[in-house]
Amino acid sequence: MSRSGKAHLGWLLDGTGAPPRGPTTLTWTDDEIMVVEPTAPESLPDSDTLDLRDCTALPALVDAHVHLIMEATGDARRREDQLRATYEDRRPLLEANRQRHLDHGITAVRDGGDYGGYALRYRDETRDKTRDESRDESTSDHGPGPRDLVIRAAGRAWHAPDRYGRFIGRPPAPGTSLADSVAADAAQTRVGADHVKIAQSGVNSLKRFGWTSRPQFPPEELRLAVAAAHDRGRPVMVHANGPAAVASALDAGCDSVEHGYFATLEVLKRAPESGAVWVPTLAPMWALAHSETMDPAARDMALRTLDHQLNQIRGAVSAGVILAAGSDAGSQGVDHGPGLWTELHLLALAGLSTPQVVSAATSVGARLLALPPGMSTLTPGSPASWIAVRSTPDQLFATPNIQPEIVVIRGTLRGSQPPAKDPPRKAT
Ligand SMILES: [Zn+2]
Repeated sequence: MSRSGKAHLGWLLDGTGAPPRGPTTLTWTDDEIMVVEPTAPESLPDSDTLDLRDCTALPALVDAHVHLIMEATGDARRREDQLRATYEDRRPLLEANRQRHLDHGITAVRDGGDYGGYALRYRDETRDKTRDESRDESTSDHGPGPRDLVIRAAGRAWHAPDRYGRFIGRPPAPGTSLADSVAADAAQTRVGADHVKIAQSGVNSLKRFGWTSRPQFPPEELRLAVAAAHDRGRPVMVHANGPAAVASALDAGCDSVEHGYFATLEVLKRAPESGAVWVPTLAPMWALAHSETMDPAARDMALRTLDHQLNQIRGAVSAGVILAAGSDAGSQGVDHGPGLWTELHLLALAGLSTPQVVSAATSVGARLLALPPGMSTLTPGSPASWIAVRSTPDQLFATPNIQPEIVVIRGTLRGSQPPAKDPPRKAT
C-alpha cells in the first residue's frame, strides 16, 4: 500500500477554475501532494513513475447531491421497498454505495436526506470506524475524520404534510412551525446533521411539459426556517422546481437551490445576489430520457425537460450564477459514482467550459460541504486524492460514461489499475 508516488501527466486541471496546464509532473508522499510542476521537455517517465502522458488529471470530486440509501433501480416495487427497510437492511447498500463513489474518484458527498436518517447514522458509524483505523490522520492538516469518503448528511428532510418528500423526510409535527421543527431537531440530535434539507415543491411531471407544483411552505415560514438553521450553524439545501418555489428559496436565503427546473432565467438570475449556489441535477432527467422501461411519450417529455434545463443553465451561467455538480444518485437510473460523471458531461453540454465543470464538482462543491481549504484542489499541500482520465482536456467530458483511467485516494492507487511497472505508453 504505497502512500507516495510520482506521475507524468499530459494535462492537469487543479480545480480552482484555472485553465488546463500542459505536461505536468505530480509527486506525492504521506498522502499529501508535494510537487506540481511542468515536466521538463526531455524528461521521460522512469520505472517508478506512472506514465499518464495521454491523460488529464483532476482533483478527487465532490457530489453535492446524493441519497446514499437509495439505489438506481427502476423497479417500482424495489423503490417502494426502500421506504420500509430498516437500517440493518440498508447497511450493505450504504457500504456498497460508499465504495462506488470512491471507485469513481469521489471523496465527498452531500446527502439530501432519507426517511430514516440512515445516511446520517452511517456517517457517524464510518466516522468513528475510520478514526480508530487511522489515528495518524488526526494530526494531519486536514483534521480528524474519514480517510476516504467524507459524508455530509441532512438526516431526515422536511416537507409539508401530504406533499412530496415521503422518501426523504417527514413533515413538521401537527401544530408546529417549520422553523420550530428545525430548531428542535438541531437541539435534539446527538452529533447532528451537517445541513438542513427542505422540500419546497414537488417533482417534475412527465405528462405535462413545464408543469410545476405550488410551493410547500409559505415564503415567510421558509425564511424563518432558514434563519433558524443558520442560527444553529447549519446550511440549508432547498428542493425547488418552478418560479414560485425557487424565488421563495432564494428570498429565504438558502445556501443552495436543488433541481430548479422551470425556475425561469429571471428568477435564477437572483441567485448571485442572494449568495445561493444552483445544483441543477441533470442526470436523473437524462436517465429517464434514456430509460428502456419508460413509455416513449414519457421519455420524450423527459428529453424536452432536460433540454429546457440545459437552456436555463446556459443563460444562468452567462448571468454569473454559480453551479455545483450534484447527480441526485439513487434516483431512478442514476448510479452512485457513474451518475456524477454523467452530470459532468451534461454540464459541459450546457456550455460550461472544462475548468468550470471541474470547479462545479470540486471547489464549489467543497464550499457547499464546508470542506477544509485545499481538500478539493490538486495543488501542493492538498490530499493526494486525484483522478486521471485518458483524454485531452477539451474532450474530457465528451461522453456520458466516462471511466477514469487512474483513481488515487489518499495516496493509494485504487482498484486494479496497472502500476508504473508496465511498459511506458506512447504519449499522443
Ligand atoms: Zn434528491
